[in-house]
Amino acid sequence: MTNPREAFFNHIAQTSDSPLGLEIARAEGPYLYTTDGRRYTDFISGIAVSTLGHSHPEVIEAIEQQVRLHMHVMVYGEFVQKPQSNLAQLLASHLPDNLQRIYFVNSGTEANEGALKLAKKATGRKRMVAFRNSYHGDTHGALSVTGRDVYRDPYLPLLPDVTFLNFNDYAQLSTIDETVACVIMEPIQGEGGIIQADPQWLAQVRQQCTRAGALLIFDEIQSGMGRTGALFAFMHYGIVPDILCMAKALGGGMPIGAFASSHAIFEAFMYNPPLNHVTTFGGHPVSAAAAHAALTVLLRDKLMDRAFRIENRVRSVLKSDHITEIRGKGAMLGLQLKTFAQTRAVVEACLEQGILLGWTLHSNTLVRLAPPLTIPEETLTETLAVLLQAIHDHPPV
Ligand code: PMP
Repeated sequence: MTNPREAFFNHIAQTSDSPLGLEIARAEGPYLYTTDGRRYTDFISGIAVSTLGHSHPEVIEAIEQQVRLHMHVMVYGEFVQKPQSNLAQLLASHLPDNLQRIYFVNSGTEANEGALKLAKKATGRKRMVAFRNSYHGDTHGALSVTGRDVYRDPYLPLLPDVTFLNFNDYAQLSTIDETVACVIMEPIQGEGGIIQADPQWLAQVRQQCTRAGALLIFDEIQSGMGRTGALFAFMHYGIVPDILCMAKALGGGMPIGAFASSHAIFEAFMYNPPLNHVTTFGGHPVSAAAAHAALTVLLRDKLMDRAFRIENRVRSVLKSDHITEIRGKGAMLGLQLKTFAQTRAVVEACLEQGILLGWTLHSNTLVRLAPPLTIPEETLTETLAVLLQAIHDHPPV
């Protein structure tokens, strides 16, 4: 018999020298169960994926049914596959008029890659504008618009002609001119530390893009699919992008990404040459079936309303002098602490008591909170009590 832990350390390529290393037996609802018989409350939803909780029965049912009918049959875009068509139609029915065409891919990063390429081809321009502290993925294109030098430097040169601006800063918006193909941004920066765009500033970005003919890309890979209390965060702002990227929670736990835009913009991918963003597994029928079930449940059960209830509970319960600020919207929240040592101590203390938390990629003084929207009230109450105690017990050092 193989020992999974040994094989993990001997054969799985490691991403750091300190993996969490929980040995997962199964996952259900808000809980992860490990092989040593412990139960953990997943308060980060596998990083904003398990919005419905783990192993939602209707998602499993949809997967089982689709697996029996067919799995992969053809590279994306050639055959009419019911799960993809159903998902596209359902998504489109909840999106504005200029986002009625949807291109399915495998991941969030690939959605951003596709969106950047689409913007270049549709505008015939090359320059891109992105923001400091952003995260858009780790392939060369996505990394080129990710605003954190420590992750970029080992891979330079990246794409040329990318200009980084400060998030929420009006001063540099005139940089968005007629040479710019696209402006890519997260309306709420996730890995940057749960930082919301200021509504007036975002309106100005939109206006500047429209004036310059630059396409505005919203990366809602983390903020989308109901996490902030609206299907997409842009809906809180009433500011519509030209291209919308989604992934993570879209698949209800299965891998799938997508970018949505207008028919006119997507025409750029059809001609001169055609087949611009070929993807073998993009919109995999099993993932698409899972995504359709997940979106159906999200909407039917009005789970987005729960995001606000979670936010209210967090803001009313987590009162401590050790918390500098609680940022974010709905169930996409961050507790700003003062030092990394304090943040690590809080996260570790919670883990010991069976609560899974983490910080964000660009900020190690922020505790990320992203519970499933289906988390039972009692579990939420218990979790927040443990977290508050851990924060009290670990003052900044
Ligand atoms: N954009 C944002 C805003 C993200 O949070 C992430 C993942 N953390 C990505 C892109 C990349 O998505 P994926 O890991 O599915 O490629």
